[in-house]
Amino acid sequence: MKYRTIKGVQDILPPDTLLWQHVEATAQEIFALYGFQEIRTPIIEFTELFVRSIGENTDIVEKEMYTFEDRAGRSITLRPEGTASVVRAYIQNHLYNLPAPQKFFYKGPMFRYERPQKGRYRQFHQIGVEAFAVDDPRMDAEIIEMLHLLLDRLGLGNLNTEVNSIGCPNCRPVYRDKLIQYLKDRIDSLCADCQRRYEVNPLRVLDCKVQGCKAAVKDAPRITDFLCNDCKEHFEKFLSYLKALEIPFTINTSMVRGLDYYTRTTFEVTTESLGAQNAVAAGGRYDGLVKEFGGPSTPAIGFAIGMERLITLLKDSKEPPAFCPDVYIVTLGDNAEEKAFGIASALRKGGFSTELSYKGGSLKSQLRRADRLKAKVAIIIGEDELAKGVAVCKRLSDGMQIEVALDEIPKSLEGLLHSPPISVR
Ligand SMILES: [Zn+2]
Ligand SMILES: [Zn+2]
Repeated sequence: MKYRTIKGVQDILPPDTLLWQHVEATAQEIFALYGFQEIRTPIIEFTELFVRSIGENTDIVEKEMYTFEDRAGRSITLRPEGTASVVRAYIQNHLYNLPAPQKFFYKGPMFRYERPQKGRYRQFHQIGVEAFAVDDPRMDAEIIEMLHLLLDRLGLGNLNTEVNSIGCPNCRPVYRDKLIQYLKDRIDSLCADCQRRYEVNPLRVLDCKVQGCKAAVKDAPRITDFLCNDCKEHFEKFLSYLKALEIPFTINTSMVRGLDYYTRTTFEVTTESLGAQNAVAAGGRYDGLVKEFGGPSTPAIGFAIGMERLITLLKDSKEPPAFCPDVYIVTLGDNAEEKAFGIASALRKGGFSTELSYKGGSLKSQLRRADRLKAKVAIIIGEDELAKGVAVCKRLSDGMQIEVALDEIPKSLEGLLHSPPISVR
């Protein structure tokens, strides 16, 4: 084999693509109920956009971005996440002049140079939403409800939603200092990454996955004890709205999310499947980002769903969809083949997905091909049938067959495809 995919990326093939399409279509349907419209931003942006939004001292910016110089010497980066681009587009296109709130969703590939492992890819896909210009905590609860509705509609059960508030520029610095003090005394038990970054980005230590760090922060001061009055009120209302919407949640004060731009509400939705907790989606509020990028002061909130994880979970939990043509045309003889060519054309134009038997062969071998394709009905045309101007339509699920005039095939197909199956003797 001469050419293969580069490390850490994958082809997405049928029938899996059917499941991807199903997820995307369902998401679009649910998001529309809440007024979210699609936005499509470029996959490449100036590197600075991501460095400024995600933060210099984050894993993504420090070691995971696909960054290169274009031919004019500008630093370009393949987007590692979706929010920064949407915020950039929001400001550049003056979308804040649209009636508030402005609500968008996006879907597409993201790129991070991470160590490839099972279920983690360097080109991965997200579906995300962003809502601008509302700081009301009802919005926080509503988008979580929307996320739950989507996952529920897709058939994913056992959802758990972890929520937290990480405060605002008024209250977080106080907490930050307290946390740095706390960590300073335990510096030796932290991992190398955390030892290096705990002063610049102490909150990241809280969600470090390394055992030693986990143990070290067990009794760390909790952010929720340091919230200013406004943040506290926002958080309490948010929780009460979640209760009103009957969305089960747990508060996890060490869930701070990896990106610098978050303020107040952060959340993560996990599902328990096959005995393991799997994060499916995560998000949060970023009230300062639009202003920081040079736009008008605009509160905002969003989440992103990891598609690869979601697809894997859905494949584990139910029968994957299959592509089944409505019709397979079996032909015996040159004349029948010629006739079938025209019939296939007419059937497709009439809305029936139709496959032709290009290779010919015996009736038996052609019917076997129809079965392998999971065709619903086989139309059989031989010399005898042709002479009579008819074809045999055979429903493959139960073997029921009828003889119909060639020009009445579409009408008979309707009947065969939609009538209840007869019981097989
Ligand atoms: Zn605050
Ligand atoms: Zn650590």
